[in-house]
Amino acid sequence: MVCQKALFLTALVAFIRCNFALLEQAPKIPTKIKESERIRSPLSFQFDDLTVSLERGIGRSRAVWECYRMGIDPLWFYDESIADSQLDDSVHKILKQQGREAKSWTRDELKMLITAKRREQGLGKAALESLRKVGGESIEESVATIRDISMARDGTTKLLVRLVESGFDVETVIIPWEETGRSTLCISSQVGCAQGCTFCATGKMGRLQNLSSDEICAQVFLARKVCRVLDINPVDGVVFMGMGEPADNAANVVRAANVLTSQDQFGMAQRKVTISTVAPTPDAFMELGRANTTLAWSIHATTPELRKELVPTTKYSMNELRQGYLDALKSRPMKLRTTMLEVVLIDKINDSVEDADHLAQFVQEMIDEVPGMKPMVNLIPFNDIGFQKFRKPKVERVWAFQERLTSRGFKCFIRTTRGDEESAACGQLATKRKRAE
Ligand code: SF4
Repeated sequence: MVCQKALFLTALVAFIRCNFALLEQAPKIPTKIKESERIRSPLSFQFDDLTVSLERGIGRSRAVWECYRMGIDPLWFYDESIADSQLDDSVHKILKQQGREAKSWTRDELKMLITAKRREQGLGKAALESLRKVGGESIEESVATIRDISMARDGTTKLLVRLVESGFDVETVIIPWEETGRSTLCISSQVGCAQGCTFCATGKMGRLQNLSSDEICAQVFLARKVCRVLDINPVDGVVFMGMGEPADNAANVVRAANVLTSQDQFGMAQRKVTISTVAPTPDAFMELGRANTTLAWSIHATTPELRKELVPTTKYSMNELRQGYLDALKSRPMKLRTTMLEVVLIDKINDSVEDADHLAQFVQEMIDEVPGMKPMVNLIPFNDIGFQKFRKPKVERVWAFQERLTSRGFKCFIRTTRGDEESAACGQLATKRKRAE
């Protein structure tokens, strides 16, 4: 959940200009992709579609994905006219402006990295030409590029990602974990959000744009590049908890999520990719459940009055939403019935032990209906971001809430607040400039 609108006028001009350009050069769209699922880059093609599009067997598409996985663009990597120093140019330029330096990878070092697990097979001129025909220019020229990188003291790293077509920016947050040596990436599915949750910075912006599946995948590509260059723990998990409500852009979210978990593509474990929805409708769960990922419900409250106060766009009763959630879970294979319920805890709004009791009761009744359901409750202490009405909960109240749930046998975690000072924490994802407006 993050956005920006300070750039609105500039973006509008860019948007109009880009759309005229697109009229002249219509993108090649693989079959089976609906008009609503805009796609411009092979980054979000299904692997088989890419193989067919590149002709001559599976070797080319594998070589392309060996690069994408490491945040390397194959169009540049295999083009001998591009110097080594240009391969990660977008990151180095930003670091230079900030007076920072980082590792410059040589092609030989990168080659070792991308071919470590397979027999080397590069892309020749004909293959590069096919790739260009399919997806146009490089990802950073045609889909999205990095505009800014900021790192909090705890290592949480926020990327400001510019969408090439519209000129809008979204924020993508890398959260490194010391214990595992890996990072989780929090990505955005929309610019802004129409759900208007009263505690959320993104909700104040309204919805400005749905991201295409390749714009969603590009956030992962760019994050992997940044992790490699800045030597941050590599990203092996993704949460759709950035800017936007995934159910309001379900087709693109599901397509992108399946690219993340495809073993031929980003290759992430299904349990390590989580799509979180506030559930604008009961059907939202079923739609998002089509992706082979963990499904999460940002429930925030179980009583109708409080939920309406926190998520004012709620149009359905808790019973109707609950039924949609249960139907979606029942339709999933057992291994995908592990699910998360998320609660942003706000001081004296929804953080009492009575609130915890209501939630426990609500969850217990669902477990009784879905065989194999494994719920985890994720508590997200609200971050103070200048909202007058809401405050950060006291730590003792958060612990008491957790204790109440664990004492009734539920797995319940408190999400550590990360990246506070860089506005990279939950509910803060709207650019500072946008908030100033
Ligand atoms: S918290 Fe609510 S307003 Fe904010 S991004 Fe999520 S669904 Fe949208």
